[in-house]
Amino acid sequence: MTVDLNTDVRRVSGVGQVAGEKLRKLGIATVGDLLYHFPRAYEFRGNVKTVASVEDGETASLIMTVMAPPTSARTRSGLTMFKLPAGDGTGACSITFFNQTYIRNTFSVGASYRFYGKVSRRGKHVEMTSPVYEPYREDLLPLYPVYPATEGFSSVRINKLISSLIDRADTVLPENLPDDVVASECLMSRTEAVRAIHHPVSLEQIGEAKKRLAFEELFGFVVSARTRRRENEEKRCKPLHIVDCKPFAASLGFEPTSAQKRVMNEIYSDMTGGADRAPMRRMVSGDVGSGKTACAQFAAFLACENGYQAALMVPTEILARQHYADTRGLFEKFGKRVRLLTGDTTAKDKKTVYEELLSGECDLVIGTHALITDKVVFKNLGLVICDEQHRFGVGQREALLKKGEGAHMLVMSATPIPRTLALVLFGDLDVSVIDEMPPGRRAVRTAYRDESSRDKVYKFIKDQVGQGRQAYIVCPGVEETGDDGLIPLEALGADFSAENYDKEIKRRKAAVNYAETLSTEVFPELRVGYLHGKMKSAEKNAVMSAFEKNELDILVSTTVIEVGINVPNATVMLIEDAEYFGLSQLHQLRGRVGRGKYASYCILMADDPGDTAAARLRIMEQENNGYKIAEFDLKQRGPGDFIRENDEKIRQHGALKLRMAGALDDARLLYRAVDAAEKYLGVK
Ligand code: ADP
Ligand code: MG
Repeated sequence: MTVDLNTDVRRVSGVGQVAGEKLRKLGIATVGDLLYHFPRAYEFRGNVKTVASVEDGETASLIMTVMAPPTSARTRSGLTMFKLPAGDGTGACSITFFNQTYIRNTFSVGASYRFYGKVSRRGKHVEMTSPVYEPYREDLLPLYPVYPATEGFSSVRINKLISSLIDRADTVLPENLPDDVVASECLMSRTEAVRAIHHPVSLEQIGEAKKRLAFEELFGFVVSARTRRRENEEKRCKPLHIVDCKPFAASLGFEPTSAQKRVMNEIYSDMTGGADRAPMRRMVSGDVGSGKTACAQFAAFLACENGYQAALMVPTEILARQHYADTRGLFEKFGKRVRLLTGDTTAKDKKTVYEELLSGECDLVIGTHALITDKVVFKNLGLVICDEQHRFGVGQREALLKKGEGAHMLVMSATPIPRTLALVLFGDLDVSVIDEMPPGRRAVRTAYRDESSRDKVYKFIKDQVGQGRQAYIVCPGVEETGDDGLIPLEALGADFSAENYDKEIKRRKAAVNYAETLSTEVFPELRVGYLHGKMKSAEKNAVMSAFEKNELDILVSTTVIEVGINVPNATVMLIEDAEYFGLSQLHQLRGRVGRGKYASYCILMADDPGDTAAARLRIMEQENNGYKIAEFDLKQRGPGDFIRENDEKIRQHGALKLRMAGALDDARLLYRAVDAAEKYLGVK
């Protein structure tokens, strides 16, 4: 069978209808998808110990010879237990497997295997339970890929499948970057890189492969964004006539800042430019609290005054309700009807909203992705607004836009993003920046502390809660750790050694326990809620709305604190292991507090982070401008953090993937990829 990138995976030997369905759940439909299904982590099986030297509880590889065939016995709970005696020159180890009948025929007595897993030791007695294993060879790789898997289709099986195809990579993966770019940038070839990412011989090689694959993604991304932009330029917009905006501005309840005015002007000239213009495609980027909502309301007002409908889409239920509450009164003053449409809207109310959208009675609809469903049909949609746009994929944006021919689009982002990166991620949009805060906003007092201050920090939080305030505590790694304790691909740089691998694993484990300790030991008398990435969205919503209603004093979470959550009563943001975050992420998190009338605080905990990291944290103490922080961050840590934050949804919607670029820790590659793509397009 000849195979190419577009070959249906179900035609690959070993995959059939059933397996094909399961792979589809992982987003794998073709051979190309499969080869680009990169490991999410690697097991580091290079920690090779001898039976004599391995410690109790250690996760290690033992190279051992099988001494005798396995014996079997039944346990009291009815499992079949196999005991396999093995050992190396330094001692004996008993290996236990449960219920895996095939174990009987797996091992050859006298042959050597690499067993990898957790080892337990009681004195001289050494044991492993259900380790992974493979026949030992001199050239066995220390890094074993672990793939994003799904129920009924394990990582091991994906590994086998990919291994069976990878030898054919040369024919399956034609080079997709211009040859001169590959040469001048000293990149691995596409096949080399894909092979290396799946079967790396060293951490350095992973680094090189990541670089090549990231370059490829960024290059492709710029090219496709520019292409979308050109396509949009062919379109013609819904023309708007000029309206008097003064009464609207006067009703906002505050004087817009000069940055807001500038952005409103940009929107105004985009939308009222005339019928021979392309529809507006604009992003408003501004720090949390900079007043983007007023700009969005302004655009919606313009559209509605012209007799068009507007739709405002936001990523969460809570945010939708907040916007609805803020906007409804304002619009009603001008005789406009505003409606709310989310997953939680009752069937009856939904029906009313659908009817009013179709008849044109509803002028502005605010909602979640419930707005994208087929049932939503507009009479005359003229403007689409996406708030917290990084939470939506291009596909979702387009789906809503399709509901109104020639409709304008405004997207809003609270992630201050450096200019070069904006060109890559939003190359299809014009960008407006609100780089000024409304007057009277007090900066969040930020302090960097180490372990020696921990008790004081806890006491401070208790004091604040005692005064009726609330606090966030963020711990990194809780979410990613899962049960397997592996380090994600993103974190693996060329400088990663076996030693810091071990340290990192321990840190991540500690983070999981810490979250629990907080509620049981540190703040037993307070109401502590807990939010993490693995929770179902209904559970998350319940915890968040409890925090909003002040039914919880402390919200412990990973970085997934919902973007845009607004709890003015929260005054403390404690960030654990702060040195592991990008500065922009820290800034973003810090923006969750300082939203009300109370003085607010951000405490960055980091124990002995090293000089560079400490200097970075000091910057947080001094700098409050998100754009300055972002530029600094991009130079120092590379674009990975930004991309991961912005790409989370794009990835799920079948657009181009930025998986590897999200693992980049060097900004120079970004600049070079943009440069190469622009030259290729003839823009430069
Ligand atoms: P974000 O950019 O994070 O979406 P919002 O639009 O929600 O920010 O604005 C944050 C708060 O600041 C809101 O309470 C809003 O009413 C207020 N605000 C916005 N612009 C101004 C301004 N020019 N002067 C005073 N307050 C403002
Ligand atoms: Mg907002």
